[in-house]
Amino acid sequence: MKDVINNEEIEALEKVVKKVKRPELKEILSVQQQILRAIDEFMIKEDVTRVMPLMMAPITDTLNHDVEETELNYCGQKFDVMKSMIFHKQLILMNEGLEKIYIVSPNIRLERPERNDTRHLFEFSQVDFEFKNAKMDDVLSFIEKLVSYVFSDLKEKCSKEIINIAGSLDHLNISKSFDRYRTEDLYEKYGEDFEKIASEKAVEPFFLINHKREFYDKEDLNNPGTYLNYDLIWPRGYVEGLSGGEREFEYERILVRMDEIGQSRELFRNYIEIAKRGLLPQTAGAGLGVERITRYVLQLDGIDDVTIFNRKPGETPYIF
Ligand code: AMP
Ligand code: MG
Repeated sequence: MKDVINNEEIEALEKVVKKVKRPELKEILSVQQQILRAIDEFMIKEDVTRVMPLMMAPITDTLNHDVEETELNYCGQKFDVMKSMIFHKQLILMNEGLEKIYIVSPNIRLERPERNDTRHLFEFSQVDFEFKNAKMDDVLSFIEKLVSYVFSDLKEKCSKEIINIAGSLDHLNISKSFDRYRTEDLYEKYGEDFEKIASEKAVEPFFLINHKREFYDKEDLNNPGTYLNYDLIWPRGYVEGLSGGEREFEYERILVRMDEIGQSRELFRNYIEIAKRGLLPQTAGAGLGVERITRYVLQLDGIDDVTIFNRKPGETPYIF
């Protein structure tokens, strides 16, 4: 076997060594660790039960965009890697003793090379949470409290590291409640690129409500064609940091929404059966990107400044 590496690999290898050895890594990781610790503390305070993540399953998030498909085989059955735990969150909440859950969930989404930008990785983590019988407003105020808790905690415990890297703590000074905008209103004001423009103009996080996307986000039947879902947008141009929604849980509605986007029912036949039996609870929740919040807190140029190994889409060869 040839054990000599080629020039392209040498170049990539040297990049890896440089990235792993960069002096600011310790501070970046300490801040990320404190973010996760503050989130854990807040969840415990709010009686949200922590669940361990799954890494593979027969069904996973259908996503709203195209990614390279993966398939694993186990015991003659097809599995996918976890793109998010959305369906499992709903299923877990069938348990009558569980009302509120969260997972620090590693996700693999083999993003296309076009997503080689400042905010996409093909492997990342999200703090994924879901509450039984919650409505959009309940989740939005939960998010406001969570983010406020984390930012105050960081200002107290990590100000030195944050000032060293971000240059200031100003971006962590936020109001108790965040502005709420509807996508259709911002579209009218700024056009196609409304999310980015509004984020660049803002100095505090805000919510963006109503997105046409995956079948599991609940349609507002009082205003058909609009949805009870939301994103948290980081200000200063850092854009989307979290997505969530009230969920469809009724059998008929799930079928309507699946048919609308041409989602094959076969893969979801067991999930549909659960809904048909009326077992799927009414829930709402969201997922907060861990690397994205770390990037915002440290005001880093790109999301890969947070990671140790290169996980940017389309940057071959990957060495480790
Ligand atoms: P989603 O529900 O698909 O919006 O994912 C939830 C959150 O995970 C997003 O709001 C982001 O913060 C984060 N996220 C999603 N995809 C990626 C990705 N490819 N790289 C890094 N973070 C991501
Ligand atoms: Mg999203």
